[in-house]
Amino acid sequence: MQKIEKTSNEFYEQHCFQCGEKNVDLNAKITPCKHLIFIGTSEGPEYDSLGLMKNNEEDKSCYEIIEKLDDKYIGFCQFGHPPNGMEAFIVYKDLNK
Ligand SMILES: [Zn+2]
Repeated sequence: MQKIEKTSNEFYEQHCFQCGEKNVDLNAKITPCKHLIFIGTSEGPEYDSLGLMKNNEEDKSCYEIIEKLDDKYIGFCQFGHPPNGMEAFIVYKDLNK
């Protein structure tokens, strides 16, 4: 997976970088588009169109699962500052690949 990381405690709207759909609004409402495959936090998956977390027998974190995806996928990973920092992951399939 191609990874784009940022460190912040702010909550942002998320727009698809390919079609511009607002995938997550400020109320954390999720609107999928055909590129979006996964949204998760350190607490678990919120949206998982491929069922990535279904075969999670070893109780891996979202991050451990998504980082195994190949380079057709692009993950935007946000890491909050400790001690209250939340991790958030949003993963898209790059349809140009
Ligand atoms: Zn899209």
